[in-house]
Amino acid sequence: MEVWFTELQYPGLKITCKVLQTLHREMSPFQEIVVLDTERFGRMLVLDGAIQATIADEFVYHEMLAHVPICSHHDPKDVLIIGGGDGGCAREVLRHQQIESVTQVEIDQRVVEVSRHFLPELACSFDSPRMSVCFEDGIAFVKDKEACYDVILVDAPDPVGVAAGLFSREFYESLYRALRPDGIFAAQTESPFFNKDLIGMVYGGVSSIFPIAGLYLANVPTYPSGLWSFTIGSKKYDPAQGPAETAGSMAGQGLRYYAPEVHRAAFILPPFVQALLKQEVKP
Ligand code: SAM
Repeated sequence: MEVWFTELQYPGLKITCKVLQTLHREMSPFQEIVVLDTERFGRMLVLDGAIQATIADEFVYHEMLAHVPICSHHDPKDVLIIGGGDGGCAREVLRHQQIESVTQVEIDQRVVEVSRHFLPELACSFDSPRMSVCFEDGIAFVKDKEACYDVILVDAPDPVGVAAGLFSREFYESLYRALRPDGIFAAQTESPFFNKDLIGMVYGGVSSIFPIAGLYLANVPTYPSGLWSFTIGSKKYDPAQGPAETAGSMAGQGLRYYAPEVHRAAFILPPFVQALLKQEVKP
């Protein structure tokens, strides 16, 4: 008998993958956590029915979320990650030897524990002496921080439930305060095909708070539509100019998506995405 997993991505749109084995399933205090072994994408982390990461394509998302802002910064030392319990984002951040500390704030301890067990390719950096992980709400955590971080990465799930506030204007104001005077943040901001209003709203908010705002794209096959957006807010450095001259070389690190040319190209937007940034969207 064949077993298939279906994610309802949007009304009228589903993605279905053939499952070889269900490796884990539990209800944590925050969400349903499932790990599947799939034929096409290998092991897959699914939270509340939504695909978060798969072994086959996670590198695109994690390399682009981490390296674009870090390589844009001229002297990054202290990084904050909000969400990202699978560990893929932290793994990428720690490739940068000049980063001295990585603080990760994940609301659900069980996501980290399950990822450590079933997804060691992603969760391989939690024991690094440069890492500290705390289990609490990232929105509350960042509220009272002032000028503590050079780079903040928001590795959030879809904007529902406890993650909804990670897409709010108040949250971006907190990120601005938590960053040093040349700080920079990046957040995943969903699909330009299906989340037009969200992208417009986030970009509108970020560009009214940060002197430099940008949107960049990457292709993640298991996310709705495949075309994925990241929004970036910067106090000083323009990420669209490409990696800083001071950025450590990522050559020889085995990266499979990020490269200096890809960094620059990711900010070149098709006209329909440019139009999303000009729309008036009320929060
Ligand atoms: N790449 C992913 C995606 O978009 O599908 C995000 C992956 S990562 C697993 C998202 C993590 O954010 C989850 O583990 C979830 O528990 C965590 N999270 C959700 N809301 C949060 C909050 N308010 N503070 C901190 N972490 C949060």
